[in-house]
Amino acid sequence: MSEKIRHIVIVGGGTAGWLTANHLAKQLQPSSNTDVTITLVESPNIPTVGVGEGTVPMMRQSLQYLGISETDFLQQCDATFKQGIKFVNWEHNPADKGEHSYHHIFDYPAPADIDSTLYWLNSNTHQSFVDAVSIQGRVCDNNLAPKLITTPEYQGAVSYAYHLDAAKFAKLLTKHATDMGVKHVKATVEQVETAPLGDISAIITKELGAISGDFFVDCTGFQSLLLGKTLDVSFIDQSDVLFADRALAVQVPYVAPSDEIPSYTIASAQDAGWIWDIGLTTRRGTGYVFSSKYCSDEQAKYTLAQYLGDDALVEGARFIDMNIGYREKFWFKNCAAIGLSQGFVEPLEATGLLVFDATARMLAEQFPTFKEQMPLMADCFNERVKASWLHVIDFIKLHYCISKRDDTPFWRDNRSLASIPLSLQQKLERWALQPPHAYDFENKFSVFNKENYLYVLYGMHFDTDATHLAYKAGQEEHAKAYFQQLEQHCQTALDRLPKHRELLEKIKRFG
Ligand code: FAD
Repeated sequence: MSEKIRHIVIVGGGTAGWLTANHLAKQLQPSSNTDVTITLVESPNIPTVGVGEGTVPMMRQSLQYLGISETDFLQQCDATFKQGIKFVNWEHNPADKGEHSYHHIFDYPAPADIDSTLYWLNSNTHQSFVDAVSIQGRVCDNNLAPKLITTPEYQGAVSYAYHLDAAKFAKLLTKHATDMGVKHVKATVEQVETAPLGDISAIITKELGAISGDFFVDCTGFQSLLLGKTLDVSFIDQSDVLFADRALAVQVPYVAPSDEIPSYTIASAQDAGWIWDIGLTTRRGTGYVFSSKYCSDEQAKYTLAQYLGDDALVEGARFIDMNIGYREKFWFKNCAAIGLSQGFVEPLEATGLLVFDATARMLAEQFPTFKEQMPLMADCFNERVKASWLHVIDFIKLHYCISKRDDTPFWRDNRSLASIPLSLQQKLERWALQPPHAYDFENKFSVFNKENYLYVLYGMHFDTDATHLAYKAGQEEHAKAYFQQLEQHCQTALDRLPKHRELLEKIKRFG
């Protein structure tokens, strides 16, 4: 006989837990649907990881889809606009060739009958790829916002995402989910009970005893209490591909209240990793993501202090261990994992929230009504989530393995073939002959697509010999007219768009 899934229990109240609660509530509507309850259980004593401030444009779609006002979000989460990532010193040794940088931006205008990439590759221009094909790099360089105060919510002159305060974001998501009927319980899970066939039947909490459920979502962070520890789903370690496994994070104040707020994340390459620098409205969030195999904690502290230009600022910094890899399965029996419990790789391209948000929505949109539907849905979920992680790993590794840096063992080892997934090696061989094509990304679980790869590859001066394809770029006259128009459009945007801080202050004051 068909048995309905009535009680869903989410364990963990970090960003992943609350994103999952919101997506499930949006789909299952517990406030009006008396068939379903959704309970989120969060320990009052175990802190959240407390980092995770960069996002990608999908977050914009998600907030809008969930019905959250962009103004409320910006005001309550000290959020700022993120138009991409500025990569500093990734391409070659800074000691040999001086400081250099490129932007991985979000905007990619695609004119109908010109292939901008082929045109750029075959021109003799000194203009960077990003400036040749889009206005957004220059919008960033001029510290401008992606929109005007009069632009409607969630729209912009160019594409954008956000930087946000993770704790405040979880608070906003908590209010929104509980308004949609999610029950919020503060209790620490001490034990997990399983039924004879291996499904989880209940969690036993210190404060409230047993809480039973039909379906459980593990959002307990790196410890993966339900899927990993209880159901024994193994972890597939990927630290031989992506070496960074530790971070040193610290929040720092602006020097002056009028300091510019960059509308992009700054990712500065270092001897054994890179430093993130994210500007919120109230403070900066920074941290050194490094490999413990190539760098001691003392060296990491020194590197971060050098970057910040002040030893005292790293006093309050905290080390965070990172498990690099993903679970063999993401949904097993009656338990799915969303968040750090599911998998994680270093946060270079803000892939954490991206994958967790996407998989929470996937789970919610295809959530089974009856218990016997679970294995079929689980198979499909596992296949898709695994594909997403493999794509993320290829994309992050790309940043390291096409670098020409050879000044430290960390950078040299990153180019060893043994550390580069075969899937990426094959793509790089193809892209030496022709630029990335949409066909390279036909799988829709490629969370990063052609445009993302183009900006990183050609930002790093990856060598594609496309002379034999010049005829495909489009008619010369037509192309020239298009690029001239783009320049005019750029000038208008630079004249009209407000400074990033100025727009944020207006939004904070007036909404
Ligand atoms: P956590 O925040 O760790 O939350 C775990 C929750 O489980 C907590 O509420 C805790 O109380 C609860 N819990 C644990 N055990 C129990 C128990 N026994 N009983 C009850 N409750 C329990 N992502 C991005 O998208 N962009 C970034 O820029 C980015 N930067 C990052 C930088 C670093 C150094 C790291 C490590 C991660 C970064 N991430 C980033 C990832 C991001 O932090 C996570 O995606 C996000 O915070 C989600 O974490 P979580 O909710 O899975 O886990």
